[in-house]
Amino acid sequence: MKKKDYLLLFFLVLLMGAGIISYADSCSRKAAGRSLSLSDSRDEIDIPVLMYHSFCKDSSGENEYTISADRFEGDLKWLRDKGYTTIFPSQLISYVNEGAMLPSKPVILTFDDGFANNMLYAFPLLQKYNMKAVIALIGSESDKSSSDIYRNREHGNLNWGEVAILSQSGLIEFASHTYDLHSISQERKGADRKSGESSDQYRNILTEDLLKNQDLIEKATGSFPTAFAWPYGSYPADRIADPILRDLGFLVTFTSYQHTSGITRGEPDSLFGLGRYLRTPSFDIEKII
Ligand SMILES: [Zn+2]
Repeated sequence: MKKKDYLLLFFLVLLMGAGIISYADSCSRKAAGRSLSLSDSRDEIDIPVLMYHSFCKDSSGENEYTISADRFEGDLKWLRDKGYTTIFPSQLISYVNEGAMLPSKPVILTFDDGFANNMLYAFPLLQKYNMKAVIALIGSESDKSSSDIYRNREHGNLNWGEVAILSQSGLIEFASHTYDLHSISQERKGADRKSGESSDQYRNILTEDLLKNQDLIEKATGSFPTAFAWPYGSYPADRIADPILRDLGFLVTFTSYQHTSGITRGEPDSLFGLGRYLRTPSFDIEKII
């Protein structure tokens, strides 16, 4: 052992003696990996969820559902400066079911529909600020994009290869936004129940569609999606779909009702029907949160 190694050992023994670090502590931290052994002492938290859809290069392309890259960067800076930390839905689930730790001011960023412009404009900014988001994917649209060599990345949807790349970044989690129920007809709005449809018929239609989307997302990302975003925020008022979604393995669902939701530890039901704020060019983030 060299002289400097003896000195290092001496300081370590000194620190352990003073109780500043302990062997047991360092072991439990190693075992915990992501500090999962630590539990959150809060029984309830409020979680603001922001809802985005499309992103564009500059303000000339903005509309109610499209935000420029600059405006999105402004949101990320504002959240950072105000001490917010972006989290994944899976972290909310761990908080409720396992008491896992959450940051003091958590926020969730959701991108609906799975547009390729999410990767083009928003993802580089998430990387720049090391922030997380969840993309709610319409599987049938990603299927079409995957076989469309002329797809426009400004307006088309993510293909499955891009979904895999984003998932591997560690900054994006994928949720389901239905495989092919993202449309409005006279009879049905999104994944809502059709009038006159029996509960068995509705269960079968929802199950077939959502299972297909979960399978495709799992194949692309390696993770089974447990979060669901209701298309158009429209879901059965009697919440008949909640048990169907639970049976499919969904643990958190998002609506489009604009409010902050309270999440209660030990109450998995509190993760169903979370409100979200639609970020439009005219809706200031400071007023939302
Ligand atoms: Zn949508």
